[in-house]
Amino acid sequence: MKEYLKQSADKLSIKITEKQLNQFEIFYHMLIETNRTLNLTAITEMHEVVLKHFIDSISVVKFINLSGKKIIDVGTGAGFPGIPLAILVPDANFVLMDSLQKRIHFIENVLRECQILNVKTIHGRAEDIGQNLDYREKFDYCVSRAVAALPVLLELCTPMVRVGGSFISYKSELLEEELQQSKNALSILHCKVGEQYHYSIPDRDFYRVLAEFKKEGKLQKKYPRQAGKPKKNPL
Ligand code: SAM
Repeated sequence: MKEYLKQSADKLSIKITEKQLNQFEIFYHMLIETNRTLNLTAITEMHEVVLKHFIDSISVVKFINLSGKKIIDVGTGAGFPGIPLAILVPDANFVLMDSLQKRIHFIENVLRECQILNVKTIHGRAEDIGQNLDYREKFDYCVSRAVAALPVLLELCTPMVRVGGSFISYKSELLEEELQQSKNALSILHCKVGEQYHYSIPDRDFYRVLAEFKKEGKLQKKYPRQAGKPKKNPL
């Protein structure tokens, strides 16, 4: 696993140290083992986990310097992209958030076993946490992968981003279509479309894109709306 991860990261010009490879290895074994009893991922074959979870998660460091930044991962699930990013950028501070307590509990076990010291977890819904003043407009970056379509995701994620910070969404071919549907949300949430970073997963040639949204102004108090509303009635 370690050798394949190192080779694949090399293809994206991302360097991983021996200590970090060991942390990834422990995480990998815990993911596979826990997945026998807890639904964490449909992807379990070693090469697929390396490419679709680890490499995809860390791709952001190819484009953006996260060093020293405060980052929140919304809907982290089994810890993607948050745990791989926290391993790779130990001097950034991460908060990993999910609405499922069992997944948060799994993440806490991983953090302990892998001795990952730069991550805190929070159990809750993004709609509630976005209204909590300890988290609202406090982060340099929010990242999120495979949680919702863009108009919904923007309301869940951008409330945590400080003015001047960015939300980075992991997307694929549907991005252009989702952008067309997000014009109203972007205007209400005071966000502007930023850079798009294109890459493909080594050995698979899956097209991926990281879409950046820049937060330009303070959010009105009524956003995010109460839990369930963003999905039921997207902006
Ligand atoms: N980001 C991970 C990944 O890429 O593998 C997990 C993706 S999983 C399909 C979606 C996750 O988002 C689930 O763990 C779910 O509990 C969480 N989620 C969905 N809606 C949420 C919300 N409103 N607030 C917090 N977490 C949410």
